[in-house]
Order: sequence, then C-alpha cells, then structure tokens
Amino acid sequence: MKKLGLYVHIPFCRSKCLYCDFCSFPNRAESDFTAYVDALCRDLRTTAARCTAHTVETVYFGGGTPTLLPPTLLNRILSEIFACYRVSPDAEITLECNPATATKQAFSELREAGFNRISIGLQSADERELRALGRLHSFADFERTFREAREAGFSNISADVMLGIPHQTKESHLQTLAALAALAPEHISAYGLTVESDTPFGKMGDRLVLPDEETSREMYFEGAQLLEKLGYRQYEISNFAKTGYESRHNLKYWNCEEYLGFGPAAYSDFGGTRFGNSRDLSAYLEGKSILAESESPSLGERAEEYIMLRLRLAEGVDCQAFANRFGFDFDAKFGKTLRKYVFGGFVKHTQNKWALTREGFYVSNTILSELLDFSS
Ligand code: SF4
Repeated sequence: MKKLGLYVHIPFCRSKCLYCDFCSFPNRAESDFTAYVDALCRDLRTTAARCTAHTVETVYFGGGTPTLLPPTLLNRILSEIFACYRVSPDAEITLECNPATATKQAFSELREAGFNRISIGLQSADERELRALGRLHSFADFERTFREAREAGFSNISADVMLGIPHQTKESHLQTLAALAALAPEHISAYGLTVESDTPFGKMGDRLVLPDEETSREMYFEGAQLLEKLGYRQYEISNFAKTGYESRHNLKYWNCEEYLGFGPAAYSDFGGTRFGNSRDLSAYLEGKSILAESESPSLGERAEEYIMLRLRLAEGVDCQAFANRFGFDFDAKFGKTLRKYVFGGFVKHTQNKWALTREGFYVSNTILSELLDFSS
C-alpha cells in the first residue's frame, strides 16, 4: 500500500488579518459554508477513485479558519473521507482553529468524530502585537480555547506563534513562548512574519515598522533555546515538539511524500505530478475544475526539491537514502560546498548524514542557493 496525506482547505475567516496572504474569504454567509462542504464532498468522492492503492496516514484541515464551520459540517467532510478512502486506524487528523471560534461542546463533537489533533493560531500573547496583526482574539481567548480543547479530550495540541511582529521585542517574544509553554502544548510552530505585497502590511511601505535584524536574530536563537529548555526539540527550522509529537502531516511535505489537497489554492503532489488549484471559490462552488497548474518534475528537479526540504529538518539528508532515491552520490556532488559551512558551524556532518545546525537554519537561504547553483 502506498501512503498518502490529505489536505482539506477551508477558506473562510471572520475577518482578514493585516498580514494574511492565505486564500481566505471573510464574512461569508452560512449558506456558503454548506455549499462549500457539498463541493468538497463531491471533490473528495471523485478523487478517491485514484487512490485505491493508497492508505491515508494523515488528514489536515487548514485554512482560513476551519472552526468557523459548525462541527456538523466539519464532521460531514471527515465522514466522507472515512467512507471513500482507506484511512489508517492510527491516522493523525488535524484541525486548525483560531481562538474563540470553537466551544468545548464543539471540540467534544469533533473529537468524537475522529479529529485527534488541534492546531491553534495564537501568534502572540501580547495584546498590542495581536492588535497590530489585526487578530480578533486576546490571549485570554486563546487560553480558554486551549483548555476547552484539552477538556474535550485532545491530547495533541499545537500552537503557532510569530516572530517579527510590529512592536515585538525579544522580551515580549520570550514571554509569549513562556506563557504558551505554561499550557503545555505538545507542539509549537514559530514562523517569521513574511510581508506579502498584496496585503495591508505590504501596502504600508515604510510606515510598517518591524523589529530590526539583530532583534529578529535574538528572538530566533533565544526563543529556540528557551523552547529546548522547556522540553521542545527543534525538529525543523520553525517547528518544535515534545518527543513523538512532530507533525506527521507536515513531515510528509518535508519528506517529499505524496499528498492531495482539496479546495481553492490547495496543492497536491501525487503520482509523480505536482498540481495546484486557483483561488476561484465561485467556480469551485459551481463544481467546475479550478486546476491552475500542473507539472511533472524531472528526477533532477525532484532531487533539488528533496534537498531543499530535507535540509529544513534537523535530521538533514541521509546519503544512503538519497542514493537509493535519486541514484547518485550526495556527498560527491555537494560535500565540498557543505564542508565549507561545517567550519563556520552552519552544517553538521555525522557519519553518512548532512544537516544544518541552528546557525545554519538561520541562513539556510544562502546555503541552499549556493548548493543548488552548484548542482545546476
Ligand atoms: S485567521 Fe489566518 S487565514 Fe484567517 S485571515 Fe487571519 S491569518 Fe489569514
């Protein structure tokens, strides 16, 4: 049996955060939610015919804000997946959620239906930073939502925080991490803010004042050290987990395994082809194809992608596994370039493996661009 991950996109939010470039539509009527779930279920059913040789190991409902949909609708989508796909009994089934968008009762119904992991968008515990991002919730909302998910039986909870927020200081970031860790989530993602041109932040130009480079660097390193001290292992550039709670779904992306995405702006990598949908929600609701791009990468392109993604992981690239997969010697091709970085403390070379250190993670774009230039 081949292994598969499913990603289900729920493109609705209460309002639009000021930095958000995700495919999400604010203020939609509840009738749109039902129509969207109808369209998703049709799509899931049709696509299932291509997956008879696959076992689904992970399911991820992302957004948007999936929990804007009532549990009955979310559970309907999950039931459709159980009915049409072979889902492993120990599958990781994640639901993204924003603070104050789900109650304890809703979490209980979702847990009962089979969701077993919750990922909550916190971003910051500082009220001024939350307002600067255009988030609608407070830290107290997050705490309540977290506790209610726990009380409803979720024993695997992740939270997202952000680095590089307007007004953020190293101290406020460390306070956010400490306040979050006090609730003992199993997993923490800590991503840097990216300013996309097509967002209110992107249009602010010089009026958007962000922490300077030195502060951002301190936040990254001291934040990672604090999380490590609190029992969270950094297993990826931006992700930390207690032992055994790494995100199995995201590991599929970083390990270049097969996944299928459903809904507007969802991407897939399946049967040797990468393909992606447009953001056209109306066409999707009408049951039209929204396939916008599709390509079948060469083995060389696959190898580059693998290197880029695997070097995001603390585990790095195993030369034997690489040779088995791509048929050439990683060390012979890239060892000379990487060795240069070993001396600076950016890269580790142990036995048959190459991996970036935390210092290397911080400058990974530079290292990767040199490596991949080298390969061309
Ligand atoms: S909650 Fe998430 S998806 Fe929705 S607008 Fe904010 S950042 Fe975007």
